[in-house]
Amino acid sequence: MASLTWDAVEMVRRVQSGEVSALELVDAALERIADVDANIGAFLYVDDNGARDAASRIDSDLTREQKERLPLAGIPVAIKDNLVTREMPTTAGSKILEGFRSPYNATVVERLLAAGAIPVGKVNLDEFAMGSSTEHSAYQVTRNPWDPTRVPGGSSGGSAAAVAAGMVPLALGSDTGGSIRTPASYCGVVGMKPTYGRVSRYGLIAFASSLDQVGPFARTVRDAVLLLHVITGKDPHDATSVDVMPTQATVAAVEPSRMRIGLPEEYFGDGIDPKVRTRVDGALETLRGLGATLVPISLPHTRYAIATYYLIANAEASSNLSRYDGVRYGFREAAPDLIQMYANTRSLGFGREVRRRILLGTHALSAGYYDAYYLKAQKVRTLIRRDFEQAFSQVDLIVTPTVPDLPFKFGEREVDPLQMYLTDIFTVTTNLAGLPGLSQPIGLTDGLPVGLQWIAPALQEERILGMAQALESVLPVPSWPMQGGSSQ
Ligand code: GLN
Repeated sequence: MASLTWDAVEMVRRVQSGEVSALELVDAALERIADVDANIGAFLYVDDNGARDAASRIDSDLTREQKERLPLAGIPVAIKDNLVTREMPTTAGSKILEGFRSPYNATVVERLLAAGAIPVGKVNLDEFAMGSSTEHSAYQVTRNPWDPTRVPGGSSGGSAAAVAAGMVPLALGSDTGGSIRTPASYCGVVGMKPTYGRVSRYGLIAFASSLDQVGPFARTVRDAVLLLHVITGKDPHDATSVDVMPTQATVAAVEPSRMRIGLPEEYFGDGIDPKVRTRVDGALETLRGLGATLVPISLPHTRYAIATYYLIANAEASSNLSRYDGVRYGFREAAPDLIQMYANTRSLGFGREVRRRILLGTHALSAGYYDAYYLKAQKVRTLIRRDFEQAFSQVDLIVTPTVPDLPFKFGEREVDPLQMYLTDIFTVTTNLAGLPGLSQPIGLTDGLPVGLQWIAPALQEERILGMAQALESVLPVPSWPMQGGSSQ
């Protein structure tokens, strides 16, 4: 296996040219999962046989020309378990979906298959993607590969940990308020939340439909571009999807020296761990060295972002989650009458955090409080969006720390839900405004990764990817945790 690396672009080339077989790649991923996942807990389900069969079909049934038309030929991919899959179970990390099997694949999964990627399994998440640490999964904890006493971030903790620990080169996650970018930052990988509408949400189990987006995890920006290209585009099943796709060519055309980069004062104030701050300052210096102009800016409504986000997200969640009634999906707790059956099923099937959010969301939408909470939050959402519009009249891009601190220890934020909610203070604004955001690793401090967040105007992913790629190319090549497996 010495010839294998987890550079997806390079591995696609080798599979297409026949230097490496798809089966070799899949076997390397499965071996690595078997070696390390007992200590990490990223995977909820591994489809060994299905993955091997799919790889063998690519190897034996396709000509070289056919393989060359597959942009992800033979690449093993992990899928967050809130994306529905026909061949594998889907739980959304919740007991209420125990035993559920989807009759169809999410559009992004169909796109992976059509691109020749091999879904190797489903990965862990906070229940219904509600959380910042993956501690709210009903099934297992996922550990941070850099330090197993710490959380991987969430809610896409399984996706980020699987990529960081070298189990797969690519993974899919979803981001409603930071669930791709926070775990990417904590696990030291690249993670992107695309513009709302870039990627189809068909088959993504809904949390907050006006905020949810699917996006890629990868070890490098170049690999993230590859995966993003495959999953983006118009889908007749999702009326909010749009028909534009970033490519490596448009990304490479970005000229760092022409970029004006905004530094919002609200994201660089008190409350940032000084060690994170030092790393981020170092990255800003490097950006200056690349010729970019750094401009101080202000996003004045940032301080209302967490309150606004948790009102809107929970209101939408309370409505979206009403479908889990013990009749249509998965788990049911029997009772003598129908109403009691609903109550028992929902009380036992949902975990504490999900129940808390349904209660908060239902309250915010109730007749007496709708104007005071939900409507007010929608108005502030508009103000937050306008802050960005105003900022983007002065700058091309914005950078911030992705998260104010380093990965925390298990249990640390479970005691106080507000503490957990504050983890997302720098990531929720992009979802509220529908903008693209990316977290890229910029180095370690005390052996733990620090992430830099990029934000761009809607549908300007290229700018982010181009600058992140330029920065990546001059930063020291990162080391990876848990070295020594077959896939390193
Ligand atoms: N941590 C945030 C929440 O708990 C965001 C989650 C997400 O992006 N899915 O709602």
